[in-house]
Amino acid sequence: METSDRYIDKDAVIKRITDLKKERDAVIVAHMYQNPDVQDIADTVGDSYALSKYCASRPESTIVFCGVHFMAESAKILSPDKTVLLPERYAGCPMADMITAEDLREFKNEHPGYAAAIYINSSAAVKAEADVIVTSSNAVKIVSRMSEKNIIFGPDKNLGAYVARQCPDKNILLWNGFCPTHHKIKKEDVLNIRSQHPDALLLVHPECTPDVTELADYVGSTKGIIDFATQSDRSEFIIGTEIGVMHRLEVENRNKGKRFYLMSPSLTCPNMKRTLLESVLRSLENNEYNIEVPHDTAERAKKALDRMMELGN
Ligand code: SF4
Repeated sequence: METSDRYIDKDAVIKRITDLKKERDAVIVAHMYQNPDVQDIADTVGDSYALSKYCASRPESTIVFCGVHFMAESAKILSPDKTVLLPERYAGCPMADMITAEDLREFKNEHPGYAAAIYINSSAAVKAEADVIVTSSNAVKIVSRMSEKNIIFGPDKNLGAYVARQCPDKNILLWNGFCPTHHKIKKEDVLNIRSQHPDALLLVHPECTPDVTELADYVGSTKGIIDFATQSDRSEFIIGTEIGVMHRLEVENRNKGKRFYLMSPSLTCPNMKRTLLESVLRSLENNEYNIEVPHDTAERAKKALDRMMELGN
């Protein structure tokens, strides 16, 4: 476990979290982009949809979701009767905020006959306007299996461009959103780190720009990247996704002699890093911040998620 000097008495904080978790009948889940300290105290670590499904399968009545706002909303949609807490009120996702429900309604009205495939990194209100939801691991499969040829894809134009390259028979209109963390990586960053580690495989997330994904040996979700590196018989990897994944890679590949190089030090999502151990403790102490999704919105968003499940099976 990594140590941190941010906490006055880290062990005491962890002990109090463990005690309160029992008292509150809570489960703690953490996204792979969370701080290592937070990942280490979570009951499970994963990507957003896997965590939401995990929460729905658990008996606890309270979910502490260490991630960003749209993820906690997804957990609430799948577990409407449970209390879902987001430890940091302002842990949002700038990409999710690049499209509103009204934006999507207008865009659909301007393009009649198009079906909306919406990335799970979106608000519950936007999901409610979608025809189907996709994740970064299943987007290509879902879009290729959709009966509609004309598709609106949003909010991430980079993931959308990657899907369009893999699904040439579809006519895909991209919303102009992007993840500020992945989008800022330039082709020059990749060429630079590749020249330093010529034997390393380049694994990147599809939220990176087409200039970057075109250079990659593997393009996939955070879980896909971790599984690929863990199962590979190669020993060096350049990682093109958020820095939190480096901790998971180290944990899952302990003593295997593998080396991981972050593609750029700027691959840090400030919103994911808002949550600290103290945030989790405060969340359990004060029951904050309670995430609610209006019933009608949750029902419509759930339909789009259910269609993802049907097409993904
Ligand atoms: S890494 Fe990007 S997509 Fe993920 S929460 Fe941060 S801003 Fe949003």
